[in-house]
Amino acid sequence: MRFEGRIYRPPSEADSLLLQLTVGCSHNCCAFCAMYVEKRYRVRPLEDVLEDVDAAARLYPHTRRVFLCDGDALSAGFETFAAVCVRINTQFPRLERIAAYTNARDLLRCSPAQLRQLRDLRFSLAYLGLESGSGAVLELIRKGATPEDMVEMARVARNADIALSAIVLLGAGGAALSEDHVRGTIEVVNAMQPKYLSFLTAMIVPHTSLMTWTRQGTFAPLTDRAILHEARTMLAGLELHDTLFRMNHVSNLIALGGRLPSDKGGLLERLAALLPRALDTVTCVCSEEEGLML
Ligand code: SF4
Repeated sequence: MRFEGRIYRPPSEADSLLLQLTVGCSHNCCAFCAMYVEKRYRVRPLEDVLEDVDAAARLYPHTRRVFLCDGDALSAGFETFAAVCVRINTQFPRLERIAAYTNARDLLRCSPAQLRQLRDLRFSLAYLGLESGSGAVLELIRKGATPEDMVEMARVARNADIALSAIVLLGAGGAALSEDHVRGTIEVVNAMQPKYLSFLTAMIVPHTSLMTWTRQGTFAPLTDRAILHEARTMLAGLELHDTLFRMNHVSNLIALGGRLPSDKGGLLERLAALLPRALDTVTCVCSEEEGLML
């Protein structure tokens, strides 16, 4: 098995077999993201990926979960993605699920029949960097998708029985767009009804536009207290029917988690108790020495 460069996967894929279908991210211009700045995007040759699947099957024949790297494996196109899924299904008889980071553009490019075909091949979990439900914030951070795209993506994924794990980025709009970020995100997440929802915090890291704008003074990062306030206000506004919520990424100020809606009251109480003790200082800006925090 071969890997190129630094490899990222969601925390919940810690026990999954990682296979690299694409290198880097085809978008690679979100204002906060430095995950793939050192990589030039490309789709790996299919025969190389299939060889890696075969090699992994010899080493880990009992694999149940596979995560396809890098930033948007479905950008390889339906035919290539499906061919890899077919080989994974053939080689791992105990396979339960295939997952990948996805975006609205790639998912919406597939027809409903193609998505159902992928679901039949056990592609059952799509991680989506929603970041925000505010159109203004999505534009600012150059996400390349609108709130409407995000809601539509959730609809087509649900119709194909592909679960969504949506990631929201606290502080993504800075101080200027904080209210809009909260309001839009509540609206969009409620419309999406994702099976999984994570709150991460926007870390201002080197080699990103957010770092440049922060240094120039055109982007004001949130203080710790303001970040927790965003988290609490968003959570309070969410009306989710059955979602597993997590706020336990390394970027988060505290670790929280529970099922929504049943645990919502307790989660809000914990956040309310923490707010008076939170700092009114900005701690989400990382220096070169501290390195990447994503
Ligand atoms: S956040 Fe996702 S889509 Fe945006 S540049 Fe990073 S990997 Fe690509």
